[in-house]
Amino acid sequence: MKKYQHFINGEYTDPDSGEWFDSENPYTGEVWAQIAKGNAADIDKAVGAAKAAFENGWGRSSPTYRGKLLNKLAELLERDAERLGKLEVQDNGKLLAEMGSQTRYIGEWYRYFGGLADKIEGTVIPTDKPNMFNFTRYEPFGVVGLITPWNSPLLLVAYKLAPALAAGNTAVIKPSEFTSASTVEMVALIKEAGFPDGVVNVVTGYGAEVGAPLVDHPDVEKIAFTGSDASGQKIYENGAKKLIPVTLELGGKSPNIVFDDADREAAVMGAISGIFAATGQTCIAGSRLLVQRSMHDEFVSRLIEVAKTAKIGDPMSMDTHVGPVTTPPQFQKVMDYLDIAKAEGANCVLGGGAYTGEGAKGKQFVEPTIFTGVNNQMRIAQEEVFGPVLSVIPFEDEEEAVQIGNDINFGLAAGVWTSDMGRAIRMSERLRAGTVWVNTYRVVSYMTPFGGYKRSGLGRENGQQAIMAYLQQKSVWIATETSAANPFIMK
Ligand code: NAD
Repeated sequence: MKKYQHFINGEYTDPDSGEWFDSENPYTGEVWAQIAKGNAADIDKAVGAAKAAFENGWGRSSPTYRGKLLNKLAELLERDAERLGKLEVQDNGKLLAEMGSQTRYIGEWYRYFGGLADKIEGTVIPTDKPNMFNFTRYEPFGVVGLITPWNSPLLLVAYKLAPALAAGNTAVIKPSEFTSASTVEMVALIKEAGFPDGVVNVVTGYGAEVGAPLVDHPDVEKIAFTGSDASGQKIYENGAKKLIPVTLELGGKSPNIVFDDADREAAVMGAISGIFAATGQTCIAGSRLLVQRSMHDEFVSRLIEVAKTAKIGDPMSMDTHVGPVTTPPQFQKVMDYLDIAKAEGANCVLGGGAYTGEGAKGKQFVEPTIFTGVNNQMRIAQEEVFGPVLSVIPFEDEEEAVQIGNDINFGLAAGVWTSDMGRAIRMSERLRAGTVWVNTYRVVSYMTPFGGYKRSGLGRENGQQAIMAYLQQKSVWIATETSAANPFIMK
């Protein structure tokens, strides 16, 4: 059986505990690998290696050099994209069609931030103070801790690691305990690209045993986290005890809003992509479908007709549309929400249970499910399910669409389907979400800021500004003429 060790100071190493835990293939239910069970001692070693690498030169290295290494890493990731894509599928059960396109794409993050590394410039400030020269510079923090979830492991590492390294930080990564394999294999490419030992380290294991000591470690100076809002809140509280900056990419309950003037076929496809792609296990899922009342029934009928054609089965097969749920607890959570929605009085018009039909294997398939008659106050409308479960909510007009769309604790994304450009702009201004898509859904790029309003997160990843989350600004004053002025008065 394949064993995945930690990666510390450029070497694969066994866990301090001597213990391992199983990784299951979500499609077959079979144990296919063993993962090192990390603890605080492993974190201490990894942070020590990262700190030494930072102090021994990486922190003062030329940004052009860092950019070249990041470009080299991008090439290696592209070379190995197919292998890594299949590895992701084996571990998280998402479709090869999607994970393959992600692994072919992630090189761009390293290339983009590699290109940005030597374009971070301070300024000379023409201050009001006589005989003073003042300039600013941007400096890395030192060791940063990167904590990721199971749904898009390598992509979400790239969102963080690429800007962190470009800025001159060193890193300790804690991948999800459910999907550690791809991150552990990816760091071999970091070594092959020529990064000095200790610049990037990986410690695998559970949140409480590895993630928490990483956040608490006195030498970790910044945390970037993607995961649930509950874990994000804990991490933020623990980061606050040390007064370190924390960026958080959390969950969502995004409204996907269809007006009666929209291209209906495109909107149906957008609704399907919003909730059934990735088996609904995506933070940007359009899990609340708001449909204008004037065409509600007609639209929902067509949606059901198309959703029924989704092929359920083996995620490795390129013609599968809906694969298994990734983890046993997540499967149970989705099943519980199906019961909750029914008990709340939502009307189940498609699916509504576990799927055991053709193509299903293992025990973690859920039927693509649509509930109509959902009231926005129901739990099925307010809480993140993270599965293929859609709540359809009718609305009367633009005003009501905005009111329902924003009546939620989350604010990660929103979709608007309309042929009226004025309405598209008005809606994009009024929806309280970090991303608004108009006549499309689920588009992200390394070039474009991504992050949440409200409980969906703090800070932004991707885009040029994202690198600033990994830098701190310093102001330097130099006297151009020395004088023995009165020391008791501020200059
Ligand atoms: P999770 O919060 O359970 O775990 C995420 C990571 O945090 C894991 O590595 C886990 O081990 C670690 N962790 C848990 N508790 C911790 C603690 N107290 N201290 C330190 N680390 C801890 O999330 P998950 O179930 O793996 O992922 C699903 C969630 O992630 C969903 O809510 C989803 O919306 C969210 N997500 C958000 C984005 C985004 O960019 N906004 C992207 C993908 C997923």
